[in-house]
Amino acid sequence: MGGAISLLAVNFIIAQVFVVAFLVIAARSRTRRPAIWCAAGFAVASLSAVFETVLPFTPVPKLFAVGAFASVLAGLLLIRFALGLFYRVPAKLLHLAIFFTAGVALDVIIYELPRGTLQHAFFYQMPFCLVQAWSAATVLRSERRSQADKILFCLLSLSAIYYLVKIHAAMAAGSGSTAADYLTSTFALISQALGAMLIVAAGVAMLGVMVKEIIDDAHARSELDPLSGLYNRRGFMERVAPFLPANHDDGPGTLILADLDRFKLVNDTYGHHAGDEVIRQFGRVLLDLMPGQAVAGRLGGEEFAVFLPRVSLADARVLAHGMRAALASRGIEGLPETVAVTASFGVAAIAAEEPLEMAMRRADKALYAAKAAGRNRVECAEPSMHLVKELYRPLRV
Ligand code: GH3
Ligand code: MG
Ligand code: MG
Repeated sequence: MGGAISLLAVNFIIAQVFVVAFLVIAARSRTRRPAIWCAAGFAVASLSAVFETVLPFTPVPKLFAVGAFASVLAGLLLIRFALGLFYRVPAKLLHLAIFFTAGVALDVIIYELPRGTLQHAFFYQMPFCLVQAWSAATVLRSERRSQADKILFCLLSLSAIYYLVKIHAAMAAGSGSTAADYLTSTFALISQALGAMLIVAAGVAMLGVMVKEIIDDAHARSELDPLSGLYNRRGFMERVAPFLPANHDDGPGTLILADLDRFKLVNDTYGHHAGDEVIRQFGRVLLDLMPGQAVAGRLGGEEFAVFLPRVSLADARVLAHGMRAALASRGIEGLPETVAVTASFGVAAIAAEEPLEMAMRRADKALYAAKAAGRNRVECAEPSMHLVKELYRPLRV
């Protein structure tokens, strides 16, 4: 009995550690609601350890036995609810409540059945098995397939199987002649030890998926420019990089660089707020007009870039003209209607194997040619030296 009670105490403490861990996650991330429900799930499930410890000493063992059962079931259902929120496969609270009521009612009914029988073990373990299978199915039905999600799915499935195995274990090892005797049984020892392992594994996996989301979120935010809604320089470079090694003979695509015209004057005349609104609106123009696979970034203060995969220089030039015209005709909040904000554009086709920085320098040159020619213009860059070298490579015989 001492062994099982110690394990109950260990399980209780482990559950509290997870409660704290999930509350810390809830305080620190967008994953707030699922983490709070997970914390609630672990807190409620841990009450079963209290019920089971008191059970041998109480004059109303049935109440405490059902309490232990109900707290585990409620805890698992709360975790199912949390997973539903996290994976966007919601479970209706009503369905969870019906499941809980039916499970507890079943437990009250089977309390009178002789322990150690198949019927008792089956009906006792089945509700737990079903909730865990339901939770595993939740992970499976979501769109997410990261390593952490797969591990969580496996552990939840394993946990469902564990409850099935417990049916046989309860019959083979005996779960005590009465509910009060449970803690003296070998079964209690095995069950609590295995249970502890599964709680730790599933808890760590759930924390893992949530922490991963926090990290992914922070990473995504570190690559985004909040003002324009485009990638920042780092994000832009990182998104464009995968297109570059594509060894198309025509090169991976085209680059458009843009710089707002006399933007300092806009700030000085209408204020920084109006200037910020221009940046926001230009970001929207680029996003609205660029094709689906393109990548747009705000590289610095009022400098922007668009990478167009597998788009020719001529087509990119037409697109840049469209962007130029769209900005020039766009009404901007905080500026008089008669004031048109414009931008200048430099377009360069990236040659096969040309480093991005080199193509950017060529596009930048074209952009400054557009500035020099009077602004609100689009200029195309000279072909890359890479391309020139390719064209004039002497024939080997
Ligand atoms: P040009 O036509 O030659 O490009 O002239 P310009 O005035 O646009 O160029 P300049 O480089 O002199 O000025 C850029 C200005 O952009 C200066 C800076 O105050 C402004 N700027 C940079 N970042 C921001 C920002 O986030 N918000 C606002 N409102 N202004 C910014
Ligand atoms: Mg500039
Ligand atoms: Mg400028």
